[in-house]
Order: sequence, then structure tokens, then C-alpha cells
Amino acid sequence: MWCMSASIPSPAMENGKTTEQHQAQESCSFLQESSHEECPSFWAQGQPPVILISLDGFRAEYLSRFALENTEHRGEFAAATIRCLAERGVSSPYMMPSYPTITFPNHYAIVTGLYPESHGIIGNHIYTDGTDPKWWQNGEPVWTTVRRQGKISATYFWPGSDVKFTEEEQRSPNYFFRYNKTTSFRQRVDQVLEWMDLPADKRPALTTLYFEEPDSTGHKAGPNTANVTEKVTIVDRQIRRLIDGLIARNIANCVNLIIVSDHGMADSPPGKQLVDLEKYVPDIQQSTLTFLGPVTSIRPLNETQEEEDRIGEALSCKDPHMRVFNKWELPYRMHSVRSRRIPNLMLDMDLGWRAVIKKEAWSGGGAHGWDNVYLDMQAIFVAHGPSFKNQEVVRPFENIQLYNLICHLVNVTPAENNGTWGALHHLLIDPPTLLVDTDQEFPDMPPILRKLVDTREETHKPSACAYVNHQETGKTSPAMEIEMKMTEERENELFIAHAPLGIPLVFPTEPSQSNVSNDPNHVLLVNEDYLTGFDVELGIPLWTAYTISGNATNNINDGYWIEDPRLDQNHTGSCQRLSNIVRRNEVAYTHLFPKEFATQKVDAWLDTNLLEVPSGISHFVETMTDLLAEASISRGPLNVISGPTRHRPASIFYVVTACKVDGTVGEWNHTTCPAEYRDLQAFLLPIGRWKYQSACTSDRNFIAYNVASLKDVEQVTGFQFFPDLPMEDKLSLLSRTTLGSALVLDPKRY
Ligand SMILES: [Zn+2]
Repeated sequence: MWCMSASIPSPAMENGKTTEQHQAQESCSFLQESSHEECPSFWAQGQPPVILISLDGFRAEYLSRFALENTEHRGEFAAATIRCLAERGVSSPYMMPSYPTITFPNHYAIVTGLYPESHGIIGNHIYTDGTDPKWWQNGEPVWTTVRRQGKISATYFWPGSDVKFTEEEQRSPNYFFRYNKTTSFRQRVDQVLEWMDLPADKRPALTTLYFEEPDSTGHKAGPNTANVTEKVTIVDRQIRRLIDGLIARNIANCVNLIIVSDHGMADSPPGKQLVDLEKYVPDIQQSTLTFLGPVTSIRPLNETQEEEDRIGEALSCKDPHMRVFNKWELPYRMHSVRSRRIPNLMLDMDLGWRAVIKKEAWSGGGAHGWDNVYLDMQAIFVAHGPSFKNQEVVRPFENIQLYNLICHLVNVTPAENNGTWGALHHLLIDPPTLLVDTDQEFPDMPPILRKLVDTREETHKPSACAYVNHQETGKTSPAMEIEMKMTEERENELFIAHAPLGIPLVFPTEPSQSNVSNDPNHVLLVNEDYLTGFDVELGIPLWTAYTISGNATNNINDGYWIEDPRLDQNHTGSCQRLSNIVRRNEVAYTHLFPKEFATQKVDAWLDTNLLEVPSGISHFVETMTDLLAEASISRGPLNVISGPTRHRPASIFYVVTACKVDGTVGEWNHTTCPAEYRDLQAFLLPIGRWKYQSACTSDRNFIAYNVASLKDVEQVTGFQFFPDLPMEDKLSLLSRTTLGSALVLDPKRY
């Protein structure tokens, strides 16, 4: 199985070039054949035009493969032009597509900055119940954004660009063509060049260009065939024709070119790697509306819970290459829950495997649609032009980030979208200064610090009701007194040790509480082993933060939950909570800061560290603790911020950071560990068993499956992590994909 390294070294950047690589580099000189001086007179309103090109189904790996593999034409590289643009401009080892990895949802994600669940185009075919708005009504494609702000947009095809609108709606691009796949690639390129010849007030600020290849041939022949090589050569030559046309106009370096694909392609030969659903649900054809293939959705005609469970249970744990989910159980990272167009039953197939009913008519060799963490599903990103850096290889990012970037390049204000403003500014030579939105202005200090519980002045003793025996439900322990005293100096030391990048900024859950800097319900508790952000109104911990340094885990199993003496009992409600726990068998109580990492018994068993979870899932938390211990042994000091979320479905989040610099043992912080060395992996583990798949899923697979981006965790919790980091550092963390780290577990699927 092919496997891509985290960063593909560009041949131009390696020592000991082969002759072929040298030739490839030499041949890139055509990109210098036009002079920059001409640009300002060409630009309209000082803005270089953007040409956005999509090569459908161009898998990320093709670019490295075809840069090194000769075609039948000796000395020529199938992707020679794209390669040159990548080497001279900005490229990424891959761009992460949205889930499902299919054409329409991803093309629309690129031009709207919205995940498919938000823009609503969740498939190439969509079921609607008639009450749904028309499919194109969610989200604003960039050609509309451009046009509505008084600039010109043009599309020579792009999925979604040729919907019929009235002129008053101003939703269509200024210039566009009804999709016709028989239009030659040559004609499309010629038209784009003609648009560049228009006078400045008529010339498009944004132009899109779309090629169906190498997708069509990838489907027919499979991704690892000479047929695909040939099509890559064909689209590459068209891009060369486009550049030659720009050179002839002396504007080759005056235009910002962005070349992307929507998704990759995987081997999926006919008659192989199939799961016949009828084998498990004999009446599936009559009783459901089912879309088959790499991404399969099942909508029972009888939309009752019983019917859904009948089918879900019949399919669960039957075939090791197939998993059946209620859509609410799909990992948050897939962003595939919130559209009502997505049926409740979804099948997750292994790469290359397809669900079928009886036989299939399929005769092709390649397909796509699978989970977007498969490397074969990754797309390409190459950008070249006056606004982009030179010879820069950037960290992979999600395709929903492109919309904001394009809006910036053509100087229009983006519509609301799922991307992060500024996330791709590091691709630019001259990025704009990031001004903090005044609505979101950070308070001087995180609000949770406003009521720092003072443990310094007096001795705190717990009240009589607070001891509950953990081992024997219902039995109370003998009374015992604890003292919690700490000097201010020690408190500061611990704060830095357990939150090297700062603690989360927590906003009140009630939107009416606009005065965020004075939320009286949030308190910070500083312990020797960890910090806790605690909500005294809700009586629950908001988060815990701790640093572990490869310690062998401690065995502090025998213990008693202890009322945190620093809080008013009326606030924590601990007596009531603890007695509830004792009575309810379906609830387990676990330690938010894992007791295995405790050096102080009292710390681990404070009731402010108590998290109630359904009894069936506490083992996930234990496995996560094991994984954190393993990672801290192999990777050095880890910082962990973790806590419960209250969105549906409720989850426990983990944000784990480390420093990749070798020999960094001991404490590190954002000044001793440069941003590019910071490793970050996050998880959103649903509290609740998977309805159909629990019996055949290991804890580790469950955890790996529920990897999340930092942005996902911020969205779910409403917290802002690492608020004290410089903006650029924060953006670098926020724009990382779920594939960007294997700190705790490798999230890649093969
Ligand atoms: Zn496609």
C-alpha cells in the first residue's frame, strides 16, 4: 500500500538531484519569461486576478508520482507544469477534502468555505422531502460574493455554477457556461485567456476552470494505470497552454493561479471488495431508499426507530470492512450530521470496499467517497502568482479554508463560512495585519481567572457530608481532615507547569451574559498535579489542564471522593451529586484528571475532579489514560486539556500538545518551543456507546476514529484555547487537519 510521508520533499529541495530532476527544474524557467513591471497596469484596482483550476479526482499522490515517472515521451513528466508551479510557488503535500469525498460536495465546499452538512450538497444525488430549500440555497459561492461586491466573476464550469437564477438575484457568475462535458479542454482554456484580454472593468477578478480529468479515467481504469498517466499529461498540457497564453500577454506572473482537486481516487476493481447488504437485510431493496457505493446511506421507507434499529442491528458487526452508524454517532470531524438530508443510517466502508445489493453494474477500476482521513482520498493544492510565497511547502489544510483566501486575494468580504480567517495567510508574501474582531475582543485575562479561589489565607476543611466510599457504593468513610494551603509563588509555578500554552478562555453559556470578564460562576482551582476550571453554578468541572512527563503511572486506586474544601458546598452541590451517583448504577464516576498521574492522593479524589459518565464507557477514558501515558513516555512532556462538552451528543474533549524538539525534557512553553515544533492532537470522544458497533470496536479504534481538529473542539466547547499565543501561532494550530499529528494515536486509515 502506498503511503505518503507527512511532507513530500520536493526534488528541487533535495541534494544529489538526478538528471531527470535536474531537467525538470531547468524546464521550469518558462515561468520567469514575463516581467513583473507590467503587472500594475494590468491589474484592476490593484488586485491581481485569480484563476482557480479544478482537476477532478487528481489524487495528491499523483503529483509526486508523475513528477518522477516518465511518460512514453522521453524526458517529459506527466505533471511537469503543475510540478513547476508547485516548486516555484506554494504547495502542500495534500489538501484535505471534506467528507464525503465526492465531487459536488467538495467543489461546493471549496467555493463556499462550508462543510457539506452546512452547504447542504451532501452527495452527487440528494434525497429531499420536498420541504427542503433548493439545494443551492445554502451558502454563498465565491463567484456570488465577488459579483455582489461589484467585481466580475467568471466560470468555465464548476459544479454548482450554472444553476438558473434570475438576473436580479445576482447569484450566477457574471460570465458562465451551462455545463457540457463535450466542450474541449482547449476551448475552455482559450476562453479564460480571452477573458484576460477584456478591459479592466470587464475582466474577471475571479475565474474558475474545471476539467473532468483525471477523475473520469481514474474511475474507468483505476488510479494506478497508464490511462491515468495519459490524462494527467493532457490536463497538465492545458495548464501549460494557459501559462503560455499568459506569457504571450506578458502577464504570467501577474495572475494568481490556484490549482486544486476535489478528492483523490482509490483502486476499487469490479466484482471485488464488495459487501452485499441483501445478505443481512433480505428486504433492503423494498424497505429502504439506499444510495450504494463507497459512501452508503440508508433511509428506511418506514421512518420509525424500530425499523431503523432492525436494519442497523442486522448490518452491525457482520463484515469487518463495514461499519453501520446512526448519523449522530459519526465522528464530529466528518461534519456530516446537521443536514436533514443525511439519512440516519450511514455505512462506513474500508478504503476500496463498496456496499452493493446483489450484483452491481459497476465495471470500473477506481472510486472515491470514503472517509477523508484515507491518504488515497487526499486532494492537491498548488498556488503560484504575485501574492504567493516562492518555493514554499505548507502544512496540509482543509479545503473549506480556501474560500476566505480567495476572498482576500480579490479583496471582497467573505460571507459567513466554516473556515478560519487568516488560516492561510502564511501562504502569502504580504499577509494583511490580523485585526481582532471587536465583537470577539479578548478580555485582558481569561474570565475564569477573575475569581481565583484564594487558598493562601486560611486552612480549608471539608464538611462532614463529603466522604463517599468509591469501592463500596453507599458506604461513607470515616471523617478525615485535609488541608489545602499553597503559597502564591507555588501557585504561579504550577500554573505555568500545567498550562504552558495557557488555559482555555471560557465564555458564559448564556448569551445574555455579555460581560464575559466577570463571570462569577467560573473559578480556577490550582492543585499540585493539575488545574481545574470549575463552574460553581452548574457544579461541574469545565476543564482540567495538566502536564505529564513520562512518569510511570501511579496507583492511587483506593480512595474516597472528597469534597473540595475550597468551595462553598452550596455551590458545588457535591453532597447531592455524590449521593445521586451512589444510587444510580447506570452512571460511573471517573476522574477528569486521571488518578494514575496523581502524585497527591487528595488531588485525584477531589470532587471538583469528578466526572459522571455512563457506566458503559468509563473504559474509553481508561484507555485514553493509557495512551497518554504511552505518549508521554515516548514523546516527552505532554500537556493535556480535557473536559466534558455539552453539545449533542455529549463528549469528552482532549487537547494534547507536545514539543517536537529533541531533548526537550522537562518544562516547555510557547517561548522555549517554537510554533513549528509544537505537536497537537485533539479528540472528541462521544459519551455514549455506539448503538450498533460497540461490540466489534476496540477502544483504541474508537479513540482514533474520533480524532478532531482544535477548531472542532473550539466549536463544540465554545472555549478558545491558548488565547495568549500570538495570533499567527494560534492560527497555525487552528488550521491543522486531523491528519496532522500522531502524537497519541495515528489517525490515518489505510
Ligand atoms: Zn470529483
